[in-house]
Amino acid sequence: MDINQLVRKNVQKLTPYQSARRIGGQGDVWLNANEYPVAPHFELTQQTLNRYPEPQPQQVIRGYAQYAGVQPDQLLVSRGADEAIELLMRAFCEPEQDSILYCPPTYGMYQVSAKTLGIKTKIVPTTKDWQLDLNGIEQNLENVKLIYVCSPNNPTGNLINAQDIKTLLNMAQDRALVVIDEAYIEFSPQSSVVSWLTNYPHLVILRTLSKAFALAGLRCGFTIANKPVIDTLQKVIAPYPLATPVADIAAQALSKDGINTMKLNVQYLNDQKQKFADQLTQLSLVEKVYPSWSNYLCVKFQDDKDVFNNLWNQGIILRDQSKSMGQKNIIRISIGTQIECDAVITSLKTIE
Ligand code: PMP
Repeated sequence: MDINQLVRKNVQKLTPYQSARRIGGQGDVWLNANEYPVAPHFELTQQTLNRYPEPQPQQVIRGYAQYAGVQPDQLLVSRGADEAIELLMRAFCEPEQDSILYCPPTYGMYQVSAKTLGIKTKIVPTTKDWQLDLNGIEQNLENVKLIYVCSPNNPTGNLINAQDIKTLLNMAQDRALVVIDEAYIEFSPQSSVVSWLTNYPHLVILRTLSKAFALAGLRCGFTIANKPVIDTLQKVIAPYPLATPVADIAAQALSKDGINTMKLNVQYLNDQKQKFADQLTQLSLVEKVYPSWSNYLCVKFQDDKDVFNNLWNQGIILRDQSKSMGQKNIIRISIGTQIECDAVITSLKTIE
């Protein structure tokens, strides 16, 4: 029996998200998933695994609300920000009828989630300087329910102009939700739009513990929005999205000490990023290191050098962007430890 013939048509055609882990690789230097380079240590404190967990663990919600400066009823915690990206579509988009809109180059899961659910996509590429094409967006708003904007943007590392986000919010009023993906916001916290929630009922913000909090393996993310949006998402989320050990560790990460540790992580990576960017800029095979407000650098290399495969073969695993829209010769490099950044520089020198 051909199982494939039973599969939904859109899933038959689906190209799954090419996550760093799915792509694989072999080596000692892993700078392809924008993870924090050093593992944090936690002890479990909850020994109640015979019981189901709280659907929305109070301590986690309270801790994150305090950290983000919002009310607990403006928050939803989920299995990473990835789950939140999809929950929004499940709650707000009619399959085969409504669309989401996104602006590549940007995070790949907006597209993959939409395609999985049979939701249409409208693609409005960014301008050359990786900002929003507001006219293009305005012309494509028909049947759009969700507009995903990533800032700082993955993979480019730039911030989206605040004024443009305001224009977008005004444009989308009474039509669509504007979802600002702030997965990397801790690396430039002054740029968060969280304080705008009072003025915009259709603003949604996505956050995660995967980046600055160094907890990508925990799978814990947040949606911040006004209560009517959160209440709607509560309807479609799984009954127990966070395992008890996940909630236990998330609560510890959001304690006063946990937040302080995160801030030190950010300082460390921001310093490291500056040094790394300076060193990369000095190499002749580097054409451009783009300014970054995140924990990775977007680097453009000379045309004829097969940098990605060269480093891959040396066990240094980076993220090749060259096949994505407007990303020719570009590699995204997560900021690692000093040793890891040095390994990249040393290997690049061998290619030069
Ligand atoms: N948004 C962006 C822009 C990301 O880069 C990522 C992780 N790669 C996510 C969301 C998903 O984060 P999480 O690990 O919380 O699912």
